[in-house]
Amino acid sequence: IKLKLPDVGTTIFTIMSQLANEHNAINLGQGFPDFNPDEKLVSLVNEAMINGHNQYPHMPGIPALRIAIADKINQLYSHNYNPDTEITVTNGATEALMSSILSIVHAGDEVIVIEPCYDSYVPCIKLAGGIPVFVSLTPPSQDNPAYSIDWQKVKDAITEKTRLIILNFPHNPTGLTLKSSDLDAIEDLIKDKEIFLIGDEVYEHIVFGHRPFLSLSTREFLASRSFVISSFGKTYHTTGWKVGYCSAPKALTAEFRKIHQFVVFTVSSPMQHAFAEFMKDPGTYLNLSDFYQKKHDYLYNGLLNTRFKPIKSEGTFFMLADYSEISLINELDFATELTKKHGVTLIPVSAFYKDSSALTSNNNLVRFCFAKKNETLEKALQVLSTI
Ligand code: PMP
Ligand code: GLN
Repeated sequence: IKLKLPDVGTTIFTIMSQLANEHNAINLGQGFPDFNPDEKLVSLVNEAMINGHNQYPHMPGIPALRIAIADKINQLYSHNYNPDTEITVTNGATEALMSSILSIVHAGDEVIVIEPCYDSYVPCIKLAGGIPVFVSLTPPSQDNPAYSIDWQKVKDAITEKTRLIILNFPHNPTGLTLKSSDLDAIEDLIKDKEIFLIGDEVYEHIVFGHRPFLSLSTREFLASRSFVISSFGKTYHTTGWKVGYCSAPKALTAEFRKIHQFVVFTVSSPMQHAFAEFMKDPGTYLNLSDFYQKKHDYLYNGLLNTRFKPIKSEGTFFMLADYSEISLINELDFATELTKKHGVTLIPVSAFYKDSSALTSNNNLVRFCFAKKNETLEKALQVLSTI
């Protein structure tokens, strides 16, 4: 058969979780919490099922949930999305990414992707017939201990064919967040052109240092060009429920829903009812940054007592660390060996780069997920301090 995605294999997250299971390893690889969601949220799902919410819900999501999402965005980012025509509940952020890319990218269009990048973007672009154009983040240096983004490089990558720029902040895997000056730069980049944006904002509620999260929707102009995507999986410790959403202006949402209705049609009804009720209390998401900051700091300080060199994150539940003091083998081999020999599973950062099919690039970096019970982090640190 003629392959549609010849360069694509099984995702690194699946590969590493399988390996972790085979070796009974502590899994700090794939990004999911090892603890349960709030009991109240779980009982709201149960209640919804008992109350008869067991058949197809509205195609774009139940009205109560779309209204709750619109209210939250209005309160946090001061943008008014119309829940009837501008918000769609999706099968996780993954479906929102695929549906938004398919709805805006035509054959031959160029799509700018910031590398390292989440692994689903490029296959989605290719399925739409688009051409990914990569711009690298600037890695940490002596002067600047964090990753940063050089908007001039993005500007240089723009051509007549550029249709879309995919932005993911807080950024997986580096944890980078945006400042107000970054939003100015993005406005500048697209203001005279017909270029659209995807804001992959699934980690919107996990930002460290008591800084506010700057969603693309905080700026009227950026909101008018953007599909803004989030995920209840990250916010409510429910990655297995697969519920997210996409907010976009009416014309973009209309196109988005044409795809959404034929990919999944709609999203699990009891979960939608539960989230609609649960998220009415802002306390359910406003404390998440503090919750994860403690885990971030615990892991960071713990890693300082090992031969890994951790890099602080500004957001997300991920942290990168350099292992070059331990070994100079490539990242996939290092992560595989660490699982097999020491029982701790991490993600090779090479999987977030364009040549990841070969998984040969090597900056000696691995990604830790710290969405774990403190005892899990403690156990992993104990092992890592011995190698
Ligand atoms: N985007 C990013 C940056 C992610 O890290 C993830 C998953 N962890 C997703 C999208 C997919 O989210 P979901 O699980 O809601 O499909
Ligand atoms: N987004 C998660 C991560 O970065 C994984 C999601 C998945 O396995 N598809 O680890």
